[in-house]
Amino acid sequence: MFELDLLVSGFPGMSTFHGGLGWSSVCLLQDDTHLVLLDTGGPGYVPLLRAGLEERGLRADEVTDVLITHCHWDHVSNFTLFPNARIVVPRLEMEWASRQSPGTWHLADLHIGRLLEMGAAVHLADDGEQVLPGVSAISTPGHTPGHVAYRVRTAGGDAIFAGDAVKNRSELVTGEVDLTLDAQASRRSVERIRQMLLADPKAVLIPGHDVRLSMVDGEIYPHADWQAEVSALLGTDRYRTVTNLVGPTVTRDASGRVTGNDRRRAGPGPADSSSV
Ligand SMILES: [Zn+2]
Repeated sequence: MFELDLLVSGFPGMSTFHGGLGWSSVCLLQDDTHLVLLDTGGPGYVPLLRAGLEERGLRADEVTDVLITHCHWDHVSNFTLFPNARIVVPRLEMEWASRQSPGTWHLADLHIGRLLEMGAAVHLADDGEQVLPGVSAISTPGHTPGHVAYRVRTAGGDAIFAGDAVKNRSELVTGEVDLTLDAQASRRSVERIRQMLLADPKAVLIPGHDVRLSMVDGEIYPHADWQAEVSALLGTDRYRTVTNLVGPTVTRDASGRVTGNDRRRAGPGPADSSSV
């Protein structure tokens, strides 16, 4: 049975002016014979994935399987880091993505081309298919036409890795989603996942862009606080403004030392805070 480990916790942030943040969830599954990644994040996640594996005494070339929920850049991009892995992509997603023209809404065009070239190293998964022992694909279209979530049997209970079928707790509660190619299909997909959670209070949900959640009697219980910061060099000095997206704003000097604006820790500093 798999042990599940959250390699990167997602965050429900939207960049207002500069395209998607793409801070998505990435999970690691391990048993005696498999080392599995669930989604891979975007290009900015390369150092996070490397560091996360290293912290656990693991290497990228030991990854046996990479399971992809859908072909958006912030989920699919880093399968290329794992030279010995079997890549699992939803069949309908691959068929749809390969027909789209370059520049289609968040699709990672070059990565899709690479997947098409990889032949037998890519496994195309169907709805309900057990893609690994205790791991099944769940068709959850809407956000993209071929999206799948993955349900994983673990010692602590089932985990549902939702990808962008359920990006955050708001979508789980309301059934109304941002960024979908088919709002009705998305509502049905959210409902499918919600029914799985209601039927099994021990199950946990890993949304595409939120922390791990449980749902008991319709109430949402997050397993962790959000963590997200953006830093920027906004002045002509070397002070770096850090906006904690879920907490206070601070300024740090070039070495990262807090110098101001986090009044609990440092008192007023030399640079102003700024929202992001
Ligand atoms: Zn997406």
